[in-house]
Amino acid sequence: MISEVTLEKSRQMYEKAKTLIPGGVSSPVRAIKPYPFYTASANGSKIRDLDGNEYIDYCLAYGPALLGHNHPVIKEAIKAQLDKGWLYGTPTELEVNLAEKVAGYYPSIDMLRFVSTGTEATMSALRLARGFTGRNKFIKIEGGFHGAHDAVLVKAGSGATTLGEPDSLGIPADFTKYTLQAPYNDIEAMTELVEKNRDELAAVIIEPVLGNIGPITPLPGYLEELRKLTLENDVLLIFDEVITGFRLAMGGAQEYFGIVPDMTTLGKIVGGGLPIGVFGGKSEIMEMISPSGPVYQAGTFSGSPCSMAAGIAVLDYMEQEKIHEKVNSKGDYIRAVLTEIVEDEGLDYSVCGIASMFKIFFGAEPHNYQEALKCDKEGYLAFFHRMLASGIFLPPSQFETNFVSAAHSEEDIEKTLKEYTENL
Ligand code: PLP
Repeated sequence: MISEVTLEKSRQMYEKAKTLIPGGVSSPVRAIKPYPFYTASANGSKIRDLDGNEYIDYCLAYGPALLGHNHPVIKEAIKAQLDKGWLYGTPTELEVNLAEKVAGYYPSIDMLRFVSTGTEATMSALRLARGFTGRNKFIKIEGGFHGAHDAVLVKAGSGATTLGEPDSLGIPADFTKYTLQAPYNDIEAMTELVEKNRDELAAVIIEPVLGNIGPITPLPGYLEELRKLTLENDVLLIFDEVITGFRLAMGGAQEYFGIVPDMTTLGKIVGGGLPIGVFGGKSEIMEMISPSGPVYQAGTFSGSPCSMAAGIAVLDYMEQEKIHEKVNSKGDYIRAVLTEIVEDEGLDYSVCGIASMFKIFFGAEPHNYQEALKCDKEGYLAFFHRMLASGIFLPPSQFETNFVSAAHSEEDIEKTLKEYTENL
């Protein structure tokens, strides 16, 4: 058990941090009440705080660490790159090589551009979709999260939902007037919205599996129908695979479900844990990007050599080791046992997820944002704290996905499931 006393160094750090960094954290999802633990190091499946407490980590930096923390293969690739310098401001062979690999896994991607975050990727993809089509409106899914840029911060998932602030101050209403919302898993509502706005609609952007209010999985046929609808109405379909890309399969959710969108955004895993974002699509769309075309996009750190080297290393290793077979079966196992636990205890909870993503919802299984909001988020938070005190670090919100990595051992998983049994 981890007691208050053993979090003393984190508490002290928080007192200082909150005078320097708003809320004491660099991103709102990290704000655990009364204070977060401050991390000293992480290795494999474990994360360790300033007081020396060790937790089995299912947050995994919110998704990137598919191989676990501090993986030697990625570390070696970064070290080798450090010897050659880590920022040039000029093109490199590394980015060409990583681009070739990524395009090889994603049939939707003929060409791509590297950026530094998923936020930049979706912001640029939407600008490009608008530039390409000459139309301004786009549809996002209620509870879908595409980063923290102005146009998408409407009914956004992740921290925006956890904190009960679906919208943000500081965004002029004019900036979101072209952002339309449709509920997930409701093809009728989507059809109506698409048909009504067809002439002004550039794109539909969607997380194929909602990861920031879930995981919430697509009902059978939903993504197929959406693909059909967007094609019939000449509207671009953008899959935001910042979470699902390289997580569900090497080719992401589009490989898993067999659907080819017009554009794709990636991030997280593809940089091996270093900052990265990717947006890509068909050549005719991507050629619209500056300097080939008139849609502007740029970044000092884009294609950063260490991120590229780490990305190449992680993708090669994942392919060689057939990582998805391993992590996805861990996910299947965890969900199966959690389902038994929930049933045995007679709880009104639901176990959700797919591949290596899982979650217990404190309520009925949600199929969209409105249903997810009905879950008992306070109850979940109390459970989160009990788990943390038992050495298990889950994301600190009902609305964030748990991830399992290749580094989680059988022993880790059994300990985790025992703590679920005791703490639910
Ligand atoms: N898109 C999705 C689906 C995400 O989950 C996230 C972040 O969690 C983003 C975009 C934004 O990525 P980043 O945090 O790298 O800016």
